Amino acid sequence: MSLSERAVKVTLLGIAQDGGRPQPGCFRSCCAAAYDDPSLVRHPVSLGLVGADHSTHLFEASRDLAWQFGCWSRHDPAESPLSSLWITHAHQGHVDGLGLFGAEAIAAKGLPLHCSASFARLLTKNASWAQMIREGVLAPRPFLKGKPIMPYADSGFSITPIKVPHRAELSDMHAFLISGPKANLLFLPDHDYWQETLAAVGCDEIRDWLGELEVDIALLDGTFWSSDELSLRQQEEVPHPTVEETMARLGSRRDGDPRVIFIHLNHTNPLHDSESEAAKAVVSMGWEIGVEGMVFDLSSTPQSS
Ligand SMILES: [Zn+2]
Ligand SMILES: [Zn+2]
Ligand SMILES: [Zn+2]
Repeated sequence: MSLSERAVKVTLLGIAQDGGRPQPGCFRSCCAAAYDDPSLVRHPVSLGLVGADHSTHLFEASRDLAWQFGCWSRHDPAESPLSSLWITHAHQGHVDGLGLFGAEAIAAKGLPLHCSASFARLLTKNASWAQMIREGVLAPRPFLKGKPIMPYADSGFSITPIKVPHRAELSDMHAFLISGPKANLLFLPDHDYWQETLAAVGCDEIRDWLGELEVDIALLDGTFWSSDELSLRQQEEVPHPTVEETMARLGSRRDGDPRVIFIHLNHTNPLHDSESEAAKAVVSMGWEIGVEGMVFDLSSTPQSS
């Protein structure tokens, strides 16, 4: 039986940095209430993509997969079992749920795992991941940077990995450009410095880069609001462009600009509170803060700003 063609949609399944919210071990004011109030819990970044052919594609393998599959089916129900998995890089939060695809939980069979060659090498060095490959649970499919991939002829979208500089102790990092029938979405959850990222892609300005890629929706690294969120030394160890810097580079949203939505929020980030001055500043400049369960229809022409 062939299913009729449907809209290509992406669901945002997590907006937190790798540690989640509450972050294990943090009992300060940023996390204390989230231990008792489930509505304050946030999950590591993840996306669910359903193609025109009803195929289903998950981005990142966080430890909160059960919640994330539930969120996905509530907001964009799809009957098919998971068709493929895409991993940006090897940091916790992006990979700590990989083991859940094994016999103990999901028991996947030959799940295509799209990742860089560097991440594919790491898979073989990790005893439990290597075993999952030997047992045929995961089937690594290394991609080439800049080369679009169409999982199936009728999927209605392509995915282009874009290499960006990010702490590479374990593997390199690729953002993903998802190009749908009418709209394109960029997923850039982690990178170190705008200067390095823009140099790597050969652009001077964020706006030029997003324009060149014809991005309509940009899910951007919003880990930290400002440069004094953690102690100086701690924050230098985990560089991310701050939301303040990204907004200073962009200025206010202009006619024809894509939607910019900040994701990958650290537990300390005031953007978790929509009433904070920081959150109000983002919204007043025309930009957005990610909400778990947001759905982006890539088969519809985006409304202009
Ligand atoms: Zn991360
Ligand atoms: Zn906290
Ligand atoms: Zn990272």
